[in-house]
Amino acid sequence: MKAEDISRVAVIGAGTMGNGIAHVFAQHGYQVTLIDIDPGFLDRAVNRIEQNLRRQAEKGKIADQEVKESMGRIATATEIETAAEAQQVIEAVTEHPETKFEIFRKLDAICPPETILASNTSSISITEIASQTKRPDKVVGIHFMNPVPVMQLVEIIGGIATSEETRDAAVATAERLGKTPVLVNDYPGFVSNRVLMPMINEAVYCVMEGVAEPEAIDTVMKLGMNHPMGPLALGDLIGLDTCLAIMEVLHTGMG
Ligand code: NAD
Repeated sequence: MKAEDISRVAVIGAGTMGNGIAHVFAQHGYQVTLIDIDPGFLDRAVNRIEQNLRRQAEKGKIADQEVKESMGRIATATEIETAAEAQQVIEAVTEHPETKFEIFRKLDAICPPETILASNTSSISITEIASQTKRPDKVVGIHFMNPVPVMQLVEIIGGIATSEETRDAAVATAERLGKTPVLVNDYPGFVSNRVLMPMINEAVYCVMEGVAEPEAIDTVMKLGMNHPMGPLALGDLIGLDTCLAIMEVLHTGMG
């Protein structure tokens, strides 16, 4: 599958990342099916996408009519079977290996053999995710950053069996979304979270050991290191459950 042949995508998981991923694909002309087991998450995601598109229009970043057009390209579903219509699937469910493995086994069974199956995992091995399927050559990591409509970087992670064609398609897709893809190998936490999470974890230790008040810790990193946001505020933005899940993958993978 080549990037130019992809016009319909399915995004599995409508949480923090799933709504942002659906937003950017719809904004760039793709038909999107956003899938979640929880209909409440789907309603919240659709509202959030509309709010964020409106904000972009108010700031003059997109035309007013793009809000309606983009929203018109988004459908929602609670059944994973609806992903079978997509040429590319992006999984963005909870950072829990067994949950993702089960989803990839299901996707492999229901999607046409040429469909690319991507994971937005922050840290879990793409090789291991791919090994749940009979198409490991078509499994790739496409790791968007939070908030997806704002952040420029996308890490593209090839597993041991990911084909060059699949990796190229992921790179081209990220470029079509106006993002900057960076190729990374399949190590725990890739580059972004291998470097970022230990820093956030150290900031948490600074709170625990009373090194400074939380606001002071964030101020040190903002003003002293020129970070746009302090590590504790960033941990809250990412979600502490996700941070813990990533630290556990780093611990298991690297000791
Ligand atoms: P989240 O908790 O906000 O959302 C996860 C969603 O997955 C929920 O809506 C939940 O209902 C849904 N879900 C769980 N099991 C499901 C299933 N079996 N089928 C369908 N939907 C299911 O999590 P998030 O922060 O959006 O993270 C999602 C993924 O993106 C994780 O792999 C995470 O590591 C990664 N990620 C997160 C961030 C971040 O800043 N939060 C950044 C980059 C990547």
